[in-house]
Amino acid sequence: MPAGVSSRIEVLPPEVAARIAAGEVIERPASVVKELIENALDADATAIQVEIREGGFAWIRVADNGTGIPRDQLPLALARFATSKIRSVEDLTRVRTLGFRGEALPSIAAVARVEILTRTAEETEGTRLLAEEGRITMQPAASPVGTAVTVRDLFYNTPARRRFLKSPLREAERVRETVYRYALGYPEVAFRLLVDGREVLIAPPGTARERAALIWGREAAEELIPVFWEAADLRITGLISRPTLGRSSRAFQYFYVNGRPVRSGLLAVALERPYAGRLPPGRYPLAILHIELPPAFVDVNVHPQKAEVRFSQERSVYWGVSRAVETALSGFPSPEIPPGFW
Ligand code: ADP
Ligand code: MG
Repeated sequence: MPAGVSSRIEVLPPEVAARIAAGEVIERPASVVKELIENALDADATAIQVEIREGGFAWIRVADNGTGIPRDQLPLALARFATSKIRSVEDLTRVRTLGFRGEALPSIAAVARVEILTRTAEETEGTRLLAEEGRITMQPAASPVGTAVTVRDLFYNTPARRRFLKSPLREAERVRETVYRYALGYPEVAFRLLVDGREVLIAPPGTARERAALIWGREAAEELIPVFWEAADLRITGLISRPTLGRSSRAFQYFYVNGRPVRSGLLAVALERPYAGRLPPGRYPLAILHIELPPAFVDVNVHPQKAEVRFSQERSVYWGVSRAVETALSGFPSPEIPPGFW
């Protein structure tokens, strides 16, 4: 045993445990942005502004016009496993919100300095909360209805993590990709992104195609065809590219399961299968596809960052997505749904 290490088992002090656990949720600046956008969407925001400086290491602010957090609840928002979104284990099988673990804000506060400025419609005055090095202070403050979370000096107290993420440019790129992912999935919500004071995205509320035009360009957006397919408990909607348009990577494929952006090899293969023989090899379709199904058929609690999901009926989902894409590509109505589909 190395010097200084004893064989005694001790429970770690809470601040040490919190910092270790935070590493699973908050890997990089883009993870902060993801969690804060999800909170804004869960709070029914119709406008979300994201601002970062120096790749997000120095400064991240996500401001929304959602419900706000009542003053008396505000300290709880920073407590671990404290959430307004689920109450029981059973709720996990019907969760409709993007968040439910109650881990994001406490994790961010464990590795950065956090300020929350918020007000609900019922309150005449807002509240400013500061969380630094485990201390929380609150003061009344002027605020519009909604919430603005500011995160400063990310990873200031975890230098190993900070060193591992060297380039602010690359991190800014990941933040941009994260904002695009939500902006493409939620075209009815206004998004704005500022990087080092420069406006990178201004997206007013609109249709999926208008959103795609803003992010992928007019030309690509005009080449997209709508997908609409329903069967029993499964609904697939969105936009996919005509076989004449392909990209050299899968970077333009966005999948949302009940509104949650997910990465999924299964969905990518299901999307691409109907393109076989239509797209040259090495070219991949573009897609913004929403898969909606009863929450009980999806396990969203596979991963702390919730980027992966498991389907209890994988084959039905695969089949559904492929049929939906096939139908859109051929322009023919969808065939009869086989009996016992679910
Ligand atoms: P979770 O989203 O899993 O519940 P978080 O740590 O992300 O956990 O947030 C904790 C709680 O703080 C949420 O359940 C919600 O009640 C509140 N909250 C966080 N961000 C916002 C926001 N932007 N608007 C309104 N409420 C928020
Ligand atoms: Mg959350």
